[in-house]
Amino acid sequence: MRIVLVGPPGAGKGTQATRLAETLHIPHISTGDLFRANISQQTELGKLAKSYMDAGNLVPDEVTIAMAKDRMEQPDAEGGFLLDGFPRNVSQAEALDELLETEDMKLDAVLDLEAPEDEVVKRIAGRRVCRNDSAHVFHVTYTPPKKEGVCDVCGGELYQRDDDSEETVRKRLEVYHTQTEPIIDYYKSQGLVATIAATGPVDEVTRRALEALKRDQ
Ligand code: ADP
Ligand code: AMP
Repeated sequence: MRIVLVGPPGAGKGTQATRLAETLHIPHISTGDLFRANISQQTELGKLAKSYMDAGNLVPDEVTIAMAKDRMEQPDAEGGFLLDGFPRNVSQAEALDELLETEDMKLDAVLDLEAPEDEVVKRIAGRRVCRNDSAHVFHVTYTPPKKEGVCDVCGGELYQRDDDSEETVRKRLEVYHTQTEPIIDYYKSQGLVATIAATGPVDEVTRRALEALKRDQ
């Protein structure tokens, strides 16, 4: 399956993507994680991306699309993938369509995670991510690790993302509404969108997501 996950920052895209990717046996491709890996490896791409990310802006399309394309062309993504955080504007959605078309491929579904603004703000404020693996995500009150500051899965150090500050979150939400939300209509016109409530327990949201994907088959 080829799936796009869309939703405001903090809706739980990464959390759900990890679970869905495991169940559906497809790789989880997060452009945010790819940028953060480049930042920690201090690559040129990482240096460029960091300035945009810290300000809560989108990284320019040219480099983002090239990075996403490169990842989607890896052998493990041949049978499908779950995109998390890409596309993030209509030009990226068009570029993805073109890319898939050249390979004679299509998206199967766009899963839209809906969550109220006050909830996503609380989720982002308490988010803690593992330095070893960005798939290990916790929340200080909702899904706390057994030992404060330590990842339950691998013992790595948990940290707060630089762009999870209150000020940057407001900017990221504005960018979501103005630049990313229009892709929902873009995909609605292709009949691909399944909207689910991203509120409630993590397991419950996963169940809703799998149900919605089944309905779309
Ligand atoms: P996104 O990838 O959409 O930005 P994340 O998956 O990183 O969002 O989730 C944001 C924060 O909210 C994390 O701290 C995560 O542990 C927490 N979270 C995710 N889903 C839920 C949920 N259903 N209920 C409570 N907290 C959640
Ligand atoms: P995320 O991890 O999805 O919350 O993304 C963190 C940040 O990475 C975003 O605020 C953007 O600055 C950048 N980013 C991630 N994906 C994209 C994308 N598809 N296009 C542009 N910027 C992106």
